[in-house]
Amino acid sequence: MPGDFPALYRLGIVGAGQIARMTHQAAVKLGITPRLLAEHLDDSAAQAAPEAMFGHPDTLAAFADLCEVLTFEHERLDLGLLQLIEDSGAVVRPGTKTIRAAFDKLHQRRVLLNRGFPVPAFAEVRGPDDLFDFASTHGFPVVLKSVRAGLPGQRGVWIVESANEALRVLAEHGDRDLMAESFQAIVKELVVLVARRPGGFARSYPIAEMTYQDGEVREIRVPAAVGHPVAVQARELALRLADEFDAVGVLAVELFLTTDGLIVNELAARPHNAGHVTIENSPTSQFENHVRAVLDLPLGPTWSNAPAAVTINVIGGLENIDPANNLVDALAVEGAQVHLYGKIPRPGRKLGHVTALGDDIEQARELARRAEAALHGRRP
Ligand code: ADP
Repeated sequence: MPGDFPALYRLGIVGAGQIARMTHQAAVKLGITPRLLAEHLDDSAAQAAPEAMFGHPDTLAAFADLCEVLTFEHERLDLGLLQLIEDSGAVVRPGTKTIRAAFDKLHQRRVLLNRGFPVPAFAEVRGPDDLFDFASTHGFPVVLKSVRAGLPGQRGVWIVESANEALRVLAEHGDRDLMAESFQAIVKELVVLVARRPGGFARSYPIAEMTYQDGEVREIRVPAAVGHPVAVQARELALRLADEFDAVGVLAVELFLTTDGLIVNELAARPHNAGHVTIENSPTSQFENHVRAVLDLPLGPTWSNAPAAVTINVIGGLENIDPANNLVDALAVEGAQVHLYGKIPRPGRKLGHVTALGDDIEQARELARRAEAALHGRRP
C-alpha cells in the first residue's frame, strides 16, 4: 500500500540532513525505503522522504521500535539511551561502542593510545592548571578542543598561541568539556572511508585529500597526492581502526599526514562529507555501501572509476544567492555533477557540492570549479 513502511529491510535513519538525504537515495535505489527521524520539516532529507517522522532525538526509543535496523547520520546522541536501546535487543548499526569513539574525542584518544595507534599528545582540560601543565611539557601552540562532536557550524577547535589566549578561550568555553592536544605540523589532511559489515568483512576506498578555506573543507581530491607507501599505510590503519571499534556501516577516518608520518585526527561513524565524491567516482558509493553494510548485505566494489576526481563544496556566500536559481548555468557545464541539498541559503552553510572526474586532478578541478562558480552566479 503506498505510504506503508515496507517490512523487508526496515531501515531507520536518525537525522535528516544531507548525509541522510543521500543515504536515503542510495537505499531507494535498492528498493528499500528507509524511515527518517527528522528534527525539522525543512531538514534536507525530510523534504525528499515522505516517511520522515518528526521528533527530538530523545524519541529514539519509539523510533527504534518501528525499525528492524537503526542507523545514524550524526553522532550527537544520548549515548546512555542508545546503549539501553541496544541492550534491549534493537539492532543498532553502528553500535554504541563505535558511536562513542566518534562522539567523545577524549575517550577515543585514550583507547587509541592504549592500542598503540598514532595520536597526538593530549590531556583532559578541567581548568587553566591542566592547560598550563600541558603547555609546559609540549609548548605553544596548543590545540584546545571540545571533547564532544558539536553541532554543524559550531566551533570546537581553537589553536591557542599563548597563555593569555588560552585563558580567553577557557573563559568563553570553559562550560564545555575540553581537551588539549599538541600542535601537529600538518602536510596534508586525508580521509579514508571504510565500509564494514557485521562480522568484520570490510572494504576501504581510495584515499581522499581535503583542502580547507576559511576553516571549511573546500575541495576533496581523489586520489590524494601521497606516495604509495603512505596510501597503503593509511588504508591499513583505517581498516584496523574499524576492527578496533567494531564499526558497522561506513567509518570515516580523518588522518593528518605530518612530517613525522600519519596521525589519527577524527573518526566519524557514518558516511562523511569527503565521501560524496564516491557517488560518481566509485562503482558503489559510500552511501550505498553504508546501507548494504548496516543491513548485512554484500558490499560493492570501492575502486575509483577515473584517474582523478574532485568535489567542490557549494557554500553559501555573503550575497546569499540561492544556487538553485543558477542551476541552468551550472548544468551547462557538461561533465560536472551538481548536487543541491534543498537548504535555505545562509552565509557559510553547505548547500550542495559539485563533482567532476578527469584524467588528472587539474582537469577534474577545472570542470568542478566552473559549475560551482556558475551556481554562485559568477563567471569562472
Ligand atoms: P572538527 O570536529 O571541527 O572537524 P577537527 O579535530 O577535525 O575538528 O579539527 C579541525 C581542524 O583543526 C583540522 O582539520 C585541522 O586543520 C586543525 N587541527 C585539529 N587538530 C589539530 C592538531 N592537533 N594540530 C594542528 N591542527 C589541528
